[in-house]
Amino acid sequence: MTKFIVVSGGVISGVGKGITSASIGKILKMHGYSVTLIKIDPYINCDAGTLRPTEHGEVWVTHDGGEIDQDLGNYERFLGSNLSKKNSITTGQIYSSVIKKERSGEYLGETVQFIPHITDEIVDRVLSVSKDFEVVVIEIGGTVGDYENVPYLLALKSLRDKSLEKNMSHVLVTYLPIPSHIGEMKTKPTQQAIRLLNKEGISPDFIICRSKHPLDKVRRNKIELFSNIRSENLISAVDVKSIYEVPINFESENLGIKILKSLGLKSKKIPNWDSWNILVDRIVSSYDDSKTIDIGIVGKYLNTGDYELTDSYLSIEQALVHAGAEAKIKVKISWLNAANFETESDHKELKKLDGILVPGGFGDSGIEGKINVIKYARENNVPYLGICYGMQLAVIEFASNVCKIQDANTSEVDSKTKNPVVTILPVQKEKILDKGYGGTMRLGDYLAEIDYNSNVYNLYNASKKITLNSNKFFVTERHRHRYEVNPKYINKIAGYRLSFSGFHVRNVGVKLAEFIELQSNNFFIATQAHPEFNSKLGAASPLFKGFVDSAKKYLEAKQDKFFKIKSKENSQLIKI
Ligand code: GLN
Repeated sequence: MTKFIVVSGGVISGVGKGITSASIGKILKMHGYSVTLIKIDPYINCDAGTLRPTEHGEVWVTHDGGEIDQDLGNYERFLGSNLSKKNSITTGQIYSSVIKKERSGEYLGETVQFIPHITDEIVDRVLSVSKDFEVVVIEIGGTVGDYENVPYLLALKSLRDKSLEKNMSHVLVTYLPIPSHIGEMKTKPTQQAIRLLNKEGISPDFIICRSKHPLDKVRRNKIELFSNIRSENLISAVDVKSIYEVPINFESENLGIKILKSLGLKSKKIPNWDSWNILVDRIVSSYDDSKTIDIGIVGKYLNTGDYELTDSYLSIEQALVHAGAEAKIKVKISWLNAANFETESDHKELKKLDGILVPGGFGDSGIEGKINVIKYARENNVPYLGICYGMQLAVIEFASNVCKIQDANTSEVDSKTKNPVVTILPVQKEKILDKGYGGTMRLGDYLAEIDYNSNVYNLYNASKKITLNSNKFFVTERHRHRYEVNPKYINKIAGYRLSFSGFHVRNVGVKLAEFIELQSNNFFIATQAHPEFNSKLGAASPLFKGFVDSAKKYLEAKQDKFFKIKSKENSQLIKI
C-alpha cells in the first residue's frame, strides 16, 4: 500500500517546504524505499511557464516538456532521478480538466460541484502518479490558512480516510523568528500555524522548526504543549550554508526512521551517506582565494520592490555548485547586470573573472551588454559557457564581429533584420500567431547528434553521457525556447571556424544547431539546451564540469603569471 507524507508550511512562504520535502524524499530513498514527490500549486495557471518570474523564480523544465515550479528541480536534484510533468498539480489543471469532462458529457446527469468533482480530480491525479511507488511526498504550495489550499487539504484527507491503516503522515514546516529588537525566539506564529492546520481537521505528526538558532528547551516545551505532538517529532532546522546539508541534519535527528515508524514502516537498509557527505563537506568548507573561481553570470536581474531576485538562475547556480564540488574548488558567483555593459569600455568587473556564463533569457533587454561580454570572453580567451540565449547571442556576436555579417540579429529582437542569424521556425510562428503562448516552445528532452571530433563529445563522453546508435553519437538535454540558429547561415559561420558540434535532426531533415564551440579558445562552448536541468550532486552536468575545470585552470595560470612577475621583480630588487 502506498504511503503519503504531506508537507505544508506555516508562518511565511519561502520557509523551506521544498527543500524539506526533497530531503525527506532523499532520506526515505536512502532507507531503501521507492519514492516520488508531488508539488501542488494552488494557482490558476496550468503550468509555471506563464507565471511572473519575480514571484516564482525559475521555470523548471521536466524531461517530458513540463514547465514547472522550481521546487521540482530540487526534488530531482535530491532524489537523483527524473520526475514527470504529472508530478506537478495546479488548480488551473484541475479546473480545466473538470470543465473539459463536464463539456464532453462525462458527468452527464450530475451537478458538477467542488465536492466531490474537484476533490476527486485531485485524488485521481495524486493516485495516478503514486501507483508505482511505496512512498509519496506531497508538498502543498503556499501557507496553511490560505483559502486556495483548502481543496487540497480536503482532498488529501479523503485519501487518508479511505484506509484503516495509517497511510499518511503530516509534516508542518514553520518559522521561528528572532526579532532583532527583542533578541528572543518567538513561538507564537508557529502556534497559530498549528491552529490553522487543526481547523482543517489535521494535526501535524512532525513539526520542522526553521530558525537561525536551534530550538531551546523552553520553546520546545511550549510548542510541544500547544501541538500535542511527541517531543522527538519536533525537529529543529537551523539555517545552513548549503541546501545539501539539510538531509544530513534531519538524519542526525533520525527523521527517516521516525517518519517510517509513523507510517508503520521500518528501514529496509542502513543508509550510507559517505559520498554525499564528502561532496557536502567540499561545498561548505572555507577556501582561500587561490581555490576560489569567480564566475560572472551576465543576466537580467529582477527587482521585487527594493530586493533583487537571482532565483531565476537557480539551476545554473546549482549546476556550478555540483561542478565545483567535483573539481574541489569553491565557485563564487558574480551576478552581473547585462545593462551595465551596453557600452564597450574597459570593464574592471570582467577582468577579475575566471569564467563567464550567459544564461537563458527572453526579449531585447540587456542584449547589447550580453553581446559585449561574450566578445570580451572570446577575444581574451576567458572560459565561456552559453546557455540557450547565451548560445544564440554568441552566434550573433561571432557573425557580426568575425564574419562581418551586417545587422546580424535575432528576429526575437528585430523582426525586420536583414540578417536573421537566429530566427523563428515556421511551426513556432504559427503557434504565436494563434496566441498559443502557454506550453508552445520547444520543450523537454531532445536528442542531439554530436560530432566525434569536438570538445562537446569529449566532455559528454568523459561523463559517460553519450549513447551510440547506428554509429552515431547522441546526447539528450532539456529545452525551452522558440528561436533557433538560422540553418541558412550555418555554413558561412562555420567557414570562419565556429564549430557546430551537435545538431538535432528533425524528421523532415531540418538540422537545428544544438552545440557550438570555438576550438581556438581554451573553453568557448554554448548550447541551445539547458544542461543545468540534468545536473545532480555527484553527477554534475558535463558542460558545467568542463567549464568549471577550465575556469580553475584559468585561475591557476593567472596565479602562475602573477608569481612569475613577482619573483622577477624580487630578483631585480636583489640585484639593485
Ligand atoms: N528567447 C530565446 C528563444 O525563445 C531563448 C530562450 C531561452 O534562453 N530559454 O529561443
